[in-house]
Amino acid sequence: MKLATFRRNAGPDELGAVIEGERIVPLGALARDMIDLIARWSDLEGEARRLAGAAAGALPLSEVRLLAPIPRPGKVMAIGLNYADHIAETGAATPAHQIWFSKQINAVTGPFDPVEIPRASRFVDYEAELVAIVGARGRQVAREAAPAAVFGYCVGDDVSERYWQNRTPQWVLGKSFDTHAPFGPWITTADEVGDPHVLGIRGIVNGETRQDSNTRHLVFNVWDQIAELTQVMTLEPGDVIYTGTPGGVGAAMKPPRPLQAGDRVRIEIDKLGAIENTFEPQP
Ligand code: MN
Repeated sequence: MKLATFRRNAGPDELGAVIEGERIVPLGALARDMIDLIARWSDLEGEARRLAGAAAGALPLSEVRLLAPIPRPGKVMAIGLNYADHIAETGAATPAHQIWFSKQINAVTGPFDPVEIPRASRFVDYEAELVAIVGARGRQVAREAAPAAVFGYCVGDDVSERYWQNRTPQWVLGKSFDTHAPFGPWITTADEVGDPHVLGIRGIVNGETRQDSNTRHLVFNVWDQIAELTQVMTLEPGDVIYTGTPGGVGAAMKPPRPLQAGDRVRIEIDKLGAIENTFEPQP
C-alpha cells in the first residue's frame, strides 16, 4: 500500500491511500494521523485496504498537496558515509562503526515543497537516500528481527549545508536547517517493497543525473542500522531513518557545485516514486 498525508486547499491534514499511482483515496477518520495509523496498523490494515479498494471519494493527486508522510515524527536519525563510492569521493576512511547524527524535526518538509537556501549558508548540497519508517516500538532489536520493525519506505533528500557540517566535528547543525529533510512522496509499505536492498536510487539536479546507484551498495544495510540504533534508543512508530547517500554529491564535484536558488532536485527510488524540491532563498 501507498499511504500519504495530504491537504486539499486550506483544509486540515488528511490521511490517504494512493492508488494507480495517480489518485488518492481519503481514509477519513481511520486514524488521527500517520503515526497513529502506523502504531495501530495491525488493527486498521484491513479497513485501510477496504477503503483503498472501494476508492470512494478518490481525488487526482494533482488536486491535493502531499505533505511529508509524517509531518512531525518523533525523531529523524541519519547515517553518514554508508556507500563505498560516497566514502571514496569524500576522501574519508571506511568507518569501522556506523556514524549517526540526527536531523531536527523542524527540518521535515513535504516532497514537493520549496527547500531553503539559508541566509547563513555557504554550500547547500543534496543527498539521495532511501528512508525507512519504523513500524514497531522496539529496543535491542536483533538484525534478524529488524525487517519486522520496519513499516515502510520513502524517498528522501538529506539536504546538507557543507560549511556548517564540516567546520565542527559534530554534523547536527549542518544537517538540521529548517526544510532540509524533505521525504515522501508517500510511504510504500514494506510488504509491497519486498527486499529494500535491491532498489535503484537516483539524484537529479535540473535534469542532470548526478547520483545513480542501488541500495545493494549500502555498507551497513537497513537491518544493521536498526540493530545498532536500538542498542542505544527505543525506536517508535513513525520514527524516520535516512540510510545514507551514494556518490555524486555536489561537494565532491570538480569543481564543487553548491545548489543555487532556482535549482530543482529530484530524487527517485525504484518502487517508491520520486520527490522534487525547488531550492529558494530563506524568506
Ligand atoms: Mn546523508
